[in-house]
Amino acid sequence: MKSRYSIFSLARNAISHHQDWQRVWRSPDPKPAYEVIIIGGGGHGLATAYYLATEHGISNIAVLEKGWLGGGNTGRNTTIIRSNYLWDESARIYDKSLRLYEGLSQELNFNIMLSQRGVLNLAHNLGDLREIRRRVNAIRLNGIDSEMLDTSEVAAMVPILDCSKDARYPILGASLQRRGGVARHDGVAWGFARAADARGVDIIQNCEVTGIMRDGDAVTGVETTRGDISSAKVAIVTAAHTSHVAAMAGLRLPIESHRLQAMVSEPIKPVLDCVVMSGAVHAYISQSDRGEMVMGAGIDHFSSYAQNSSLAVVELQMAAVTKLIPILSRLRLMRQWAGIVDVCPDASPIVSKTPVRGLYVNGGWGTGGFKATPGSGWVFAHTIARDQPHPLNAPFALDRFSSGALIDEHGAAAVSH
Ligand SMILES: Cc1cc2nc3c(=O)[nH]c(=O)nc-3n(C[C@H](O)[C@H](O)[C@H](O)COP(=O)(O)OP(=O)(O)OC[C@H]3O[C@@H](n4cnc5c(N)ncnc54)[C@H](O)[C@@H]3O)c2cc1C
Repeated sequence: MKSRYSIFSLARNAISHHQDWQRVWRSPDPKPAYEVIIIGGGGHGLATAYYLATEHGISNIAVLEKGWLGGGNTGRNTTIIRSNYLWDESARIYDKSLRLYEGLSQELNFNIMLSQRGVLNLAHNLGDLREIRRRVNAIRLNGIDSEMLDTSEVAAMVPILDCSKDARYPILGASLQRRGGVARHDGVAWGFARAADARGVDIIQNCEVTGIMRDGDAVTGVETTRGDISSAKVAIVTAAHTSHVAAMAGLRLPIESHRLQAMVSEPIKPVLDCVVMSGAVHAYISQSDRGEMVMGAGIDHFSSYAQNSSLAVVELQMAAVTKLIPILSRLRLMRQWAGIVDVCPDASPIVSKTPVRGLYVNGGWGTGGFKATPGSGWVFAHTIARDQPHPLNAPFALDRFSSGALIDEHGAAAVSH
């Protein structure tokens, strides 16, 4: 039985010098068989396990993670959350996710530090302005909050932006989603892990899946570095390694893996209280609660599984960011890193059954899946439990690559694809 986090538990544990806190989740050995096996202990895998247990009454589940929880893209992203997507299919699934985020700290009894501070997308030329206005209209038609700001309104909201007429990247306006913002990425993974564990889900770290077992056209389990485990339902939620893991079951997926980099500066006093994104310079910037400026860059245009950063990207990124926000030019960078993002040809995810019975795949979220974490887990749990997609994820099935019903979201992020 998990004790609840509250002001009372904090006081109780303070009295005992914080020696008696319960473990946040157990560390069980794998059992020989489970009702459902989830490969990948990132946010999406953990959310799937949580919603399988809470919404569908299935808790005989193992989440198998080759490293540590949230050590993949979940712990490497720039934590931006929003639902301002162009196409109806995307708007619906991302807004479902944002709505789940809005109640998540209370639901999980874990502070995910959601801060709905607003997300601005800048327009630097007339083409941008037209495109952003079109998006704002489409988003509003889907009942999602979105508005246009002119240059003076942007300058009033973010005084540190260079909004002058002779700026290197002139700012002609911006779209604003006020419900957008940021959340603590580790908190999301840990919150889902704790809540899933409390409902009986086995979370097994340092357990790499090395093979997927099949009997004819049905899945029967997985081979791992800690032995074989049987299950009639196996779900692949491995982000950058999705194609690689799916190939273990003989499936070829249209997903490419690319490096995506980000960096943080030394901490400074509060200067930025919203998220600023610029598609033209491929930058997205926010300030963390510790005061660091968090800055994301564009993706490498070649496929790779590298997780190191590269000087060329840092240099280009800083050149652009310091033109947008000149006062940042005297800051020192503290850390830079990379994650490997899983990109589909239409820059939309795959959340789907597969031609192998009992095998499900959830990947291809690319540069923008952190914001989708609860929504993705919620629809994927439905797909696995009922063996059929929820209407929200039906358009994101694998067969769209043969039917041609693609959902082109290449313009949805401040990252080039
Ligand atoms: C630099 C950067 C910035 C980003 N910024 C944003 C942002 O601001 N907003 C946003 O919405 N999204 C952003 N993203 C994208 C977002 O991080 C991802 O889409 C999302 O976190 C994916 O979550 P996941 O759970 O699917 O993947 P991961 O967190 O990568 O989890 C997959 C897990 O599978 C495990 N795994 C792989 N192979 C195996 C195996 N064989 N056996 C067992 N386990 C295995 C991995 O170790 C990993 O832990 C960014 C990404 C990067 C890299």
